[in-house]
Amino acid sequence: MGYHYLNLRARAKINITLDVLGRREDGYHELKMIMQTVNLCDNIFIKKLSEDTITLSTNLSWLPSDSRNLMYKAAELMKSRFGIKTGILMELTKTIPVAAGLAGGSTDCAAVIVGIDRLFELGLTMDEMCALGEELGADVPYCIMRGTVLAEGIGERLTRLPPFPDCFVLLCKPNVNVSTASVYKSLDISDLHHPDTDGIIADIKKGDLKAVCGGMYNALESVTVKNYPVIADIKAKMLETGAIGSMMSGSGPTVFGFYTGYEEGLAALKEVRRTFRTKEVYLTTVFNERTHLL
Ligand code: ATP
Repeated sequence: MGYHYLNLRARAKINITLDVLGRREDGYHELKMIMQTVNLCDNIFIKKLSEDTITLSTNLSWLPSDSRNLMYKAAELMKSRFGIKTGILMELTKTIPVAAGLAGGSTDCAAVIVGIDRLFELGLTMDEMCALGEELGADVPYCIMRGTVLAEGIGERLTRLPPFPDCFVLLCKPNVNVSTASVYKSLDISDLHHPDTDGIIADIKKGDLKAVCGGMYNALESVTVKNYPVIADIKAKMLETGAIGSMMSGSGPTVFGFYTGYEEGLAALKEVRRTFRTKEVYLTTVFNERTHLL
């Protein structure tokens, strides 16, 4: 007997590194990134329907719930690709800040692919699900794979890395809207610093969080900080409140900080919330083999 419904956790990601290697002929950028899943998640309820429809509802009135939503696109793609004739109902409870550099849409999309595979007993492999995900977005394959991963190409070439050292992660999305496309457009690729990605991978393997923090680097940060100096202020505040390291994730504007203790992380959360007057501040943990049952 298969399942009739599922409750899924679609987790956010952060970038430990984001290196831009060059611009491709097709306009995309060649990237090299160490990605890490965190336990901050959206909740997705997914259920089979007898009539042949796709329905999606969300707790955010302003978020599209039609074919512009990546969850809807994932359901459409899976239905047509596998000839699924029954319907699919999806309810999204969004917690991950939207358009924040946390791959919120991509992780919801990934969860729907994994969920439909399970619900309809398609028996797809991880590679097959990643190939489907790639049709919908560059970050979707990573969100299917999850954990500590090196992503290359436009983000679709994935290599699993040793698990990231356990720690608390403070996330803060300031009240500014960043356009990913304009960040890449303003990027001067002839004048970029490049992180020592292999060195950081070795530090992750050793479990040396301090060394990881010393080397982590996001090539998009300086572009975004120029337009939104509040990002640099949040970083400074996180370091002042005891973060071992702090950086912007993806194209921003979310900033994260790593803390070793819960009490310290909680005190920092309160301080960051008070100083920057934003509700979008969360204390979470990195997702790895030890924390995935949380
Ligand atoms: P990335 O880190 O991959 O750049 P992001 O965190 O910057 O992602 P998202 O939260 O994925 O950005 O949202 C970007 C846009 O995608 C939003 O403007 C939103 O309208 C659209 N979108 C489509 N589906 C979803 C979804 N399920 N959740 C959030 N946004 C979605």
